[in-house]
Amino acid sequence: MLRTKEVKIKGYESVTFLEDKKIGMRGYVAIHDTSLGPAVGGCRMLKYDNQNLALKDALRLSRGMTYKSAAVGLNYGGGKTVIIANDVGSRREMVFERLGSFINDLGGTYITGVDAGTNLYDMKFLKRHTEYVAGVPSPGHEIGDPSMATAYGVYMGMKACIKEKLGRRDFQDLRVAIQGAGKVGGYLIERLTKEGSKIILAEPREEIAQQMAQEFGVDLVKPNQIYNVEADIFAPCALGGMLNSRTIPRLKSPIVAGAANNQLLTDKAGELLHTRNILYAPDYVINAGGLICVVLDMEGSNMANILLKTSRIYDTLLDVFRTSKSEDLPPYLVADRMAERKIIKANTDKEMEKKKPEDTRTSYGTDQEQTKTTAASMHA
Ligand code: NAD
Repeated sequence: MLRTKEVKIKGYESVTFLEDKKIGMRGYVAIHDTSLGPAVGGCRMLKYDNQNLALKDALRLSRGMTYKSAAVGLNYGGGKTVIIANDVGSRREMVFERLGSFINDLGGTYITGVDAGTNLYDMKFLKRHTEYVAGVPSPGHEIGDPSMATAYGVYMGMKACIKEKLGRRDFQDLRVAIQGAGKVGGYLIERLTKEGSKIILAEPREEIAQQMAQEFGVDLVKPNQIYNVEADIFAPCALGGMLNSRTIPRLKSPIVAGAANNQLLTDKAGELLHTRNILYAPDYVINAGGLICVVLDMEGSNMANILLKTSRIYDTLLDVFRTSKSEDLPPYLVADRMAERKIIKANTDKEMEKKKPEDTRTSYGTDQEQTKTTAASMHA
């Protein structure tokens, strides 16, 4: 039987510990904030050295989703599920059954999807128990993997960076150092070489690295050498936490713009980049194309609309850079404040709405209520 226990964490709307000892299931569902709309955030299932690390992951990642949604103007909040994979073994389907029922009981406050360690099969199984799952192809929602939209958003974000920092509108003859040629990095390599850039790549999967060299003429470097490469852009598209006090002093690019989540190991890394006059595209803004893709697909949008909305990452980043320059603040901090302002405004609007006499309230309700209805009916 599934046992649930609320964990009180300051600044989070709800954090629930889920446990079913019989099937080796332990995990957390964290809902950070739903001021703008239902919380969205994937379900990861990984091995953890201890339970506290899983909780920390759920907290950090759900908060990140709130900021990502707000920064790019989506009416959604942030949540995350972290299942501790250590003792699950072959009882995977039972875990998703329990989780599905729990998410269903939340009634649409939280919508989940694929994340590290889970796959489409898991989500299909989850979907048998709850409608609040996004990114599972079904009639009217065919898109599935959002990597292409993520990569397109990163490309548009890079465009904003080269305009801001180099006064350039095109990528011809620019040198781009890419860390990781996975789903996102691979797309960027193809697109940027087509537009005349020279790519320098670090990719530990030898087969993929060789393929990129043959197909696109990229120069290969060892993974630990990528930070030393002289380039116009350094694009982290592999790991989190790679921007830190050891790597930043080695960078020889005026721009850091890539897809990876949680690029800054600490806020200090964001300050250090700013002090070194390296333009940093805040990760959750530049890589938001994936989230835009998942939620717009869920709402029934087509790919053209998704890419149009994703292309606005360009303007959002230029706004961030403008404020960063005028207030001499690091871009990561400007993006955080921008997201926080939107959340505060949504709450203030709701308070004002509540104070209005009943008959003058807007009949369509708040943004949050609207989105909730949409999210729920999408799966009906
Ligand atoms: P992926 O797993 O397909 O690719 C990652 C690549 O990085 C792999 O080819 C891997 O071999 C390589 N890599 C691992 N360690 C490396 C190292 N030390 N140096 C260089 N390369 C290394 O992942 P992806 O889907 O392309 O995503 C890339 C990053 O972007 C991840 O951090 C992911 O969280 C983030 N992101 C992805 C999406 C998406 O839609 N795919 C959305 C938002 C954020």
